[in-house]
Amino acid sequence: MLALPRYSFGVGDRFAHEAEAQLVAFERLALEGVLVAPVWNKSNREHVLIGSQPASVREAADRAVAALKWPHLWFVDADHIRLDTVERFLESSNFFTIDVADSIGQPASDALVDEFVARHGELSTRLLIAGIEEPLALSPSSLKEIVRTYLLAAKEAGTLYRHISKKRGGATFITEVSMDETAAPQTPPELLVILALLADEQIPLDTIAPKFTGRFNKGVDYVGDVDQFEREFSDDIAVLAHASKQYGLPPSVKLSVHSGSDKFTLYPIIQRTLARTNAGVHLKTAGTTWLEELIGLAESGGDGLALVRDIYSYARGHVDELCGPYATVIDIDCGQLPAVSEVNRWSGSRLAAAIRHVPTHSDYNANMRQLLHVSFKVAAQQGSRYTDLLKSNRAIVAEQVTENIYARHLCPLFLEKR
Ligand SMILES: [Zn+2]
Repeated sequence: MLALPRYSFGVGDRFAHEAEAQLVAFERLALEGVLVAPVWNKSNREHVLIGSQPASVREAADRAVAALKWPHLWFVDADHIRLDTVERFLESSNFFTIDVADSIGQPASDALVDEFVARHGELSTRLLIAGIEEPLALSPSSLKEIVRTYLLAAKEAGTLYRHISKKRGGATFITEVSMDETAAPQTPPELLVILALLADEQIPLDTIAPKFTGRFNKGVDYVGDVDQFEREFSDDIAVLAHASKQYGLPPSVKLSVHSGSDKFTLYPIIQRTLARTNAGVHLKTAGTTWLEELIGLAESGGDGLALVRDIYSYARGHVDELCGPYATVIDIDCGQLPAVSEVNRWSGSRLAAAIRHVPTHSDYNANMRQLLHVSFKVAAQQGSRYTDLLKSNRAIVAEQVTENIYARHLCPLFLEKR
């Protein structure tokens, strides 16, 4: 039976050129004594925007694993799939992120809600949960409201899980349910009810991605109340441990943090909470590896730098079009975007420093970084001009990719301070 190890980390590789450089970061951490399973993820939206097929993710990962002789587990994640998009992922993925966000809030019938509430009398009592100071107490009306909000989403997750299981054979893949791409965060009591609903659907849940409090914008740091996040993250872990015993979910069931890359403020919190609770985590990055490609190309100067300037110039002129699909997960202040004429005067290192996520660097520009992050289809339109430059500048690009994952992500997340 396939199970997700305690620690796993999702990486995106939009153009399928960096799997090996990504894997080097995991290899380095393993040498430090901490094993984290790499998960290569790519959503249907990214495949459509780039014009790639899910099999290409698997092939790139296969090549990297073979080249480095990686002896540990690794996975390929069909990221944010739904019933209408899962089909072409079935063969090449062994990890499925079932996205039911669209069904959250579709009201379930009274009969279904009443039936669930009657079956789960325990949820109406004062619940003492190990690791949470105050007992959880849901009033009958608030319990019903939560069930009404999430019941159809849980049913949809069950339908999709059974569809995948039928096509692939059970126990041969990892199941994640994601609820992060929705307007309102889920509180720990809501998470408990959601887990009971998913258990009733008999989903052997490996990981669940709730929406946490605060802004998890793509490619930049967390914005929100860090103390509240710490409490919520810790309470969610306690709720998961409780639910796995109470409802027979796999004992290793763990939280998944989406758009988890670049949340530097949160990493020490996550690190110490995992150490204290012995819990695991899956952290999914937002496909920011492709920004490291831009950084490497800028640093390389010449044709690489010219291409990065061209991509920025196009993006600067098409902000609304490029940001539209990502409006809820980016915050760009257009007034802070440098003029194209200015950027065209910058050296490669100056341009790289504007994009590279080193918040303390005086040239770092979070607005420019976010705009470029959502502009990957502009690079895709460049076709072989882009990918040939990746090949001819492989070493400098790979260095950026590895360093970003290893030093800015894996180390602060998983290496205890000594
Ligand atoms: Zn997500």
